[in-house]
Amino acid sequence: MDYRRTYIRDLFDLPPGNPATAYGWVKTRRDSKGVSFVQIADGSCFKDLQVVIEAGTIPEETLKRITTGASVRFDGDIVESPGEGQETEFKAHSVEVYGEADPAHYPLQKKGASFEFLREIAHLRARGNTFGAVFRVRSRCAYAIHKFFIDRGFHNIHTPIITASDCEGAGAMFAVTTLLDAQGHGPEAKAALRAMEFSEDFFGKPAYLTVSGQLDAETLALGMTNVYTFGPTFRAENSGTSRHLAEFWMIEPEMAFCSLEGNMNLAEEFLKEVIQDLLDNCSADLEFFNQRIEPDLLSTLHHVVNSGFERMTYTEAVDRLAKSGEPFEFPVFWGSDLQSEHERWLTEIDVGRPVILTDYPKDIKAFYMRQNEDGKTVRAMDVLAPRIGEIIGGSQREERYDVLEKRIVEMGLPLEAYWWYLDLRRFGSVPHSGFGLGFERMLMYVTGMKNIRDVIPFHRTPGSAEF
Ligand code: ATP
Ligand code: MN
Repeated sequence: MDYRRTYIRDLFDLPPGNPATAYGWVKTRRDSKGVSFVQIADGSCFKDLQVVIEAGTIPEETLKRITTGASVRFDGDIVESPGEGQETEFKAHSVEVYGEADPAHYPLQKKGASFEFLREIAHLRARGNTFGAVFRVRSRCAYAIHKFFIDRGFHNIHTPIITASDCEGAGAMFAVTTLLDAQGHGPEAKAALRAMEFSEDFFGKPAYLTVSGQLDAETLALGMTNVYTFGPTFRAENSGTSRHLAEFWMIEPEMAFCSLEGNMNLAEEFLKEVIQDLLDNCSADLEFFNQRIEPDLLSTLHHVVNSGFERMTYTEAVDRLAKSGEPFEFPVFWGSDLQSEHERWLTEIDVGRPVILTDYPKDIKAFYMRQNEDGKTVRAMDVLAPRIGEIIGGSQREERYDVLEKRIVEMGLPLEAYWWYLDLRRFGSVPHSGFGLGFERMLMYVTGMKNIRDVIPFHRTPGSAEF
């Protein structure tokens, strides 16, 4: 039993006459006169392997133990298939049952269980069609993202998970502390904790789980030119929406000597290339999502790959929205943040392809974005995609020391905390740009899954930290 054994996906390529071994978990067993059919899967591909067992080959007693969920190894031969739609099939000579799954208790029995129910048995759901497909696409997508950047000379960097700076006020943060340990976990700990000083804490000051690696990534870019992070981020979002997790993964490239145009070009190339990679390498899984989850999936993905992204300013977009005559739930006016209904109208109805909006009002964007000459807008860019709206958010960063310092103060942020960030503008500052993409949002887009809890193996949301 070596990890280099054959996967089920390889068995489909073997010609008739080949002896073969198949390991996996039983999906179903069906007995008819003189023959049993067992479907097994090992997660290596979308397709199950159908194992044919002729009566008398395997003792009746053993056959009974081969129930849904059991883990097995079949030894047999690849033979020509009399059935239509397949050239070969797997004929078993013998079986080993590693672990039984008592049909009276195995929770993953029936087809068509709801996603809500499957979340409660997230430790088993990867054995089913949908979640096998989701996590294969997740794996390939991560690989395609690394490949995209490495192929272009970007360096992969790791930024801290524990941080003492609230990067940009991006969201509520989780505190990291050892004070609780010092006080035990009883009811008295709470009061004692309140009275304690952060100077006594592990880091000597308040520390948190990071909400973004961007500011740290900028420091590496201003020395290594093109870098990217792909790491976990944490936000104590209390919203309980289908688009927010408390723990999610973020991809953040940062490029020195790069303007907003360069940033937009990278974002467009990035989405196209990663999606194309998935179309090429996960076709069976995407086909399934297209059939069962989101009927427009493949057509939108092909469309994104093949169309030039429209580029327009926020001001122009607000103008078009205002003139659209659409009965939006949220009003649109210059200075307002666009809602996804607006973003979807722009991409789906007005333009009919992805749109990159630029030059947003500075008051709805972060302090580090480069200010335009008009004094009102900043060099921000959001990439909006049909079906979901914003998928990427980025900007050219403010590289001028004085302007940045003034903006930090204006926004009421603690100047002292940003001494190192400001230093980057004191010594060898350069125009630079970058963007951020939530990995799970990307996965929702490419799979059509509607709840972000269903594109990560074990979700962390308010009240939920099982597994
Ligand atoms: P939203 O408006 O959807 O809350 P945001 O404006 O807070 O997003 P950013 O701070 O720009 O998001 O974060 C960068 C990217 O991280 C977003 O474009 C999105 O893809 C992703 N993201 C943000 N918050 C979450 C979350 N709670 N769970 C999963 N992904 C997230
Ligand atoms: Mn948010």
